[in-house]
Amino acid sequence: MRSIVWFRGKDLRVADHGPLAEAVASGEVIPLFVLDPYFFAPERARELPHRMQFLLDSLRALEANLAYLGSRLLVVPGRSVEVVPRLAAQWKADQVLAHRWVEPFGRERDRRVGEALGRDGIAFRLFEGETLLPPGSVRNGQGAMFRVFTPFGRAAGAKLDLGPALSAPRALPPLPDGPAFETVPIPTMEDLGLALNADLQAGGEKAGRDRLKAFVKGPIGNYGVDRDRMDRPGTSRISADLKFGTLSVLTVWQAAWAAEAGEGGRRFLNELLWREFSHHLLWEWPELLEKPFRADFGAFPWRMDAAAWQAWTEGRTGYPVVDAAARQLRAEGFVHNRARMVAASFLTKHLLLDYRLGEAHYLRWLTDGDWAQNSSGWQWSAGCGCDAQPWFRIFNPTAQGQRFDPKGVYVKRWVPELADCPTAFIHEPWKQPRGQRTRRDYPDPIVDHALARERFLATAKGHLGQGPA
Ligand SMILES: Cc1cc2nc3c(=O)[nH]c(=O)nc-3n(C[C@H](O)[C@H](O)[C@H](O)COP(=O)(O)OP(=O)(O)OC[C@H]3O[C@@H](n4cnc5c(N)ncnc54)[C@H](O)[C@@H]3O)c2cc1C
Repeated sequence: MRSIVWFRGKDLRVADHGPLAEAVASGEVIPLFVLDPYFFAPERARELPHRMQFLLDSLRALEANLAYLGSRLLVVPGRSVEVVPRLAAQWKADQVLAHRWVEPFGRERDRRVGEALGRDGIAFRLFEGETLLPPGSVRNGQGAMFRVFTPFGRAAGAKLDLGPALSAPRALPPLPDGPAFETVPIPTMEDLGLALNADLQAGGEKAGRDRLKAFVKGPIGNYGVDRDRMDRPGTSRISADLKFGTLSVLTVWQAAWAAEAGEGGRRFLNELLWREFSHHLLWEWPELLEKPFRADFGAFPWRMDAAAWQAWTEGRTGYPVVDAAARQLRAEGFVHNRARMVAASFLTKHLLLDYRLGEAHYLRWLTDGDWAQNSSGWQWSAGCGCDAQPWFRIFNPTAQGQRFDPKGVYVKRWVPELADCPTAFIHEPWKQPRGQRTRRDYPDPIVDHALARERFLATAKGHLGQGPA
């Protein structure tokens, strides 16, 4: 049996890789990665510079790991829907094995590839692994997808009967004799017209494993408290590893479970179930990438305000946590979860700007930018998503800062203009008496919190035709 193992950017690893393990067990193995212009055309790559850097790191690590095991990664440019069927026929493969994606465009790609392969009598087998449970498999008593996280989490937890993660193969067979294999070098950031960002996390399977190990050795124990603290390194920072599959979610789940970390461990596993929920939602409702879950939020009267948008993206709104989030995003392709929530709430509620603007901006700059999680994070924050934060709950960015960054450590790291601001004013620098102002070139708030809150509530009530419960 000759198998092509088609690595596709969400499974860049050799451990716990179902398609690779299956191919090894059944005979000859041809590892393939396609440089599809959907992502790799320079004008497309420019839309995801941080994700591209992490992906290229991870691809190089995968290439090295496969070589170490005795095989070789073949890298071929072209549209997947054409390249994969062409190569499978040319290389006389019996089957193509890959991991399934939940995104609608990935599903459509796979439908077309499967059809084309089928015409040549070549099998196309998709493996689970992106999520802990197959999307679509967690249903309520009526057989429908849950619309609320807590019962979903409970039902998913009850269904989980997870075996151990698969080990990496000990060795791989060399590429089979016969076919004339084509391959090109993995492109560099420079080839794609992108600048390297030295402050980004390094990609690759080993880097991911090291991050996971460090987390389950220590921070996981206090995760229940520290996960909300913007001033502490209390979370795992493995989101990009999960996104690009340098770690499988099963590996992460099992490592956290084995750590026996009490309440911290339980909270962490619960976050993995939130990840699960967002993927299952997107599987059920592919249109979530385009429109709000709540139909009554359709045609919501979002404002147009170029100056407010610019202030939010550049981190110059005058609200320190919101600005720190904007700058962290651009600087290191990451934003603390609490800061993401505050910044997203501010954009949609204080500024009344369409959540889809923020969603696209985050997807552009986040290293962990993931369609399912980013879309559900934004819809949750705007109040229009499935089991979202109620629309009439509006984060007070000052109070959030005071509570979750009490000394302003997070703010001072990302907003150097406030480096000398006393702790008492760090989250409301405009209150510092005029004669004593230490902030340098930092703006006053672009909106007043109380007025902006009232404006959002009045607008939302007007549109939704109801008040808070
Ligand atoms: C507006 C907004 C946008 C977001 N966009 C993304 C995104 O594009 N990609 C992404 O991976 N996460 C996104 N999140 C969720 C969350 O912010 C990140 O997963 C988390 O900050 C990543 O840091 P970590 O790996 O240290 O997380 P940890 O706290 O260590 O959590 C472990 C893992 O659990 C999952 N997770 C944690 N929190 C959530 C959550 N609220 N929802 C879903 N999964 C979660 C992630 O996969 C994360 O890596 C978004 C949240 C918001 C509010």
